[in-house]
Amino acid sequence: MTGEIHNGRSVAGDLDLSTDVVIVGSGASGAVVAAELAEAGQKVVVLEEGGHHLPAAMGAMRPSESLRHVWRAGSMTAAIGIGDSPVINVMMGRAVGGSSLLTGGVCFRIPEHKLVHWSTTLGLTELTPAKLEPYFDAVERAIHVETVPETARSRSTVLYEDGARKLGYRLTPLRRNTRGCEGRSKCNFVCPHQAKASVDLTYLPRAVAAGAEIYADCRVSRVVPHGGRAVGVSGRLLDADGHKRGHLMVRARRVVLAASAWYTPLLLWNSGIGRGSGVVGRNMTLHPSLRVIGEFDEEVRGWHGALQSAYSDAFLAERLTLVSAFVPTSILAATMPGAGPAFMARADRIRHLGVFGGMIHDEGGGRLHRGLGREPWVTYRMARADRAALSRLIRILADTWFAAGARRVYLPVFGLEGLDPSALATLNLDRIPASRIECTSQHPLGTCRMGTDRAHSVVNQDGETWDLPGLYIVDGSTFPTSLGVNPQLGIMAMAARAALRMLDRPLPAAV
Ligand SMILES: Cc1cc2nc3c(=O)[nH]c(=O)nc-3n(C[C@H](O)[C@H](O)[C@H](O)COP(=O)(O)OP(=O)(O)OC[C@H]3O[C@@H](n4cnc5c(N)ncnc54)[C@H](O)[C@@H]3O)c2cc1C
Ligand code: SF4
Repeated sequence: MTGEIHNGRSVAGDLDLSTDVVIVGSGASGAVVAAELAEAGQKVVVLEEGGHHLPAAMGAMRPSESLRHVWRAGSMTAAIGIGDSPVINVMMGRAVGGSSLLTGGVCFRIPEHKLVHWSTTLGLTELTPAKLEPYFDAVERAIHVETVPETARSRSTVLYEDGARKLGYRLTPLRRNTRGCEGRSKCNFVCPHQAKASVDLTYLPRAVAAGAEIYADCRVSRVVPHGGRAVGVSGRLLDADGHKRGHLMVRARRVVLAASAWYTPLLLWNSGIGRGSGVVGRNMTLHPSLRVIGEFDEEVRGWHGALQSAYSDAFLAERLTLVSAFVPTSILAATMPGAGPAFMARADRIRHLGVFGGMIHDEGGGRLHRGLGREPWVTYRMARADRAALSRLIRILADTWFAAGARRVYLPVFGLEGLDPSALATLNLDRIPASRIECTSQHPLGTCRMGTDRAHSVVNQDGETWDLPGLYIVDGSTFPTSLGVNPQLGIMAMAARAALRMLDRPLPAAV
């Protein structure tokens, strides 16, 4: 018996369903759990706030259209910097497939040293490298993780590697979840060739084939408890513009939250769950990231090649990971300084630009707060060591571009013109207020962290909340620390593990 993807916007009246398991969120983690449980014979309903768009239609959207239909809030979500911290633009997806639709495809396992820290220092004995290995293997097979061939590198990345070699460090090929990638650098706006194996092309079709019912345009507001257990969720059906329509109620024997580190804490707050721990919505890590642009005499045309193809962990001891990433030219133009003729002259030089980025393996400092309406607001107090790491990251990227032969670099600092090597040498990056540094994040994590006791964590090692039996959290909010690498593969492997732990325990009786 196959299931279906339903558009909530076309459902007449209210939605009232009963099922074995209800999953909130259809992104990287929700899709994995939906497939695993449905394939094991459980009746699964997935509720997704965003709309459902066919892969070819999403891939054909202009970036401005994609921002409106597939990205959350047109990519305007931000963490407000407190003290000497930058404002960090936090990007997320909002559609059937979640943020998985927007990734650059980069896949890293959770680094072994992280798992050793989690399993020994933090006492999460079930999360050893050996115990997680089968889940990584299974997810990598399911989403076709492959090494990006050197031939797929853009000229931008080749030039950067040349500079890195001259400075004594190397780049390593990235692994990505792609099949037949033609190197069109459009991954962040959904691959036009369906070459990126996002969950709408992998786990969700598997879930539907096994009978799962997925409902788009369904915003869950709270978890419904009864007799000391989670027994369902309630919320609203939305129209195509995201406005509230009918009511929804799904009764279930088990409830799974996969709404992301940004939204799962809200669902707990709305439902009065997890208050005792005092950590719901706290400890958010973001992997603050930035890019530095190098300008060359030659035509680089960095958009020819895989969007992301190589990385360097040479600065891991300083908690920095360097990752190649080109950006669509329209967005690249918008990051250039100046106005009027000066800006136009720079825009003319776009084909001469190389781009390389990096992220900080941050200590946390992010915190969600309840807003007046539905949206939370988020503050981020960057640790002093992380602020110093920001300067260091900018300096490494800029020095490498100059070693590669760049004439000028453009730093992610508002109000700063392009710099030649002597101007960079005299610049004290630590003295620039962090509020002038342009930072982004695609990796919010940690707001409902996993732990070994209810006083300091929200879920146990199975992902079940301490406060409400039958309620599981499987998204990136459960990560106890940041990773220092892109998290989708780690989130999916942890979700696969949580699904199998659920299957180990009989479903409770329906109420
Ligand atoms: C632009 C971009 C590029 C990225 N590139 C990479 C990369 O190259 N490699 C990598 O490893 N990671 C990358 N990431 C990060 C990766 O996509 C996320 O870490 C991962 O998808 C998080 O999984 P999740 O299940 O926690 O949340 P998501 O995938 O974000 O899914 C959460 C879903 O829940 C839905 N939802 C939220 N609230 C509700 C509610 N109340 N009711 C119903 N539904 C709700 C959301 O609409 C969303 O669809 C990128 C992210 C972005 C945005
Ligand atoms: S680089 Fe282009 S072809 Fe390859 S996955 Fe990204 S968008 Fe698709």
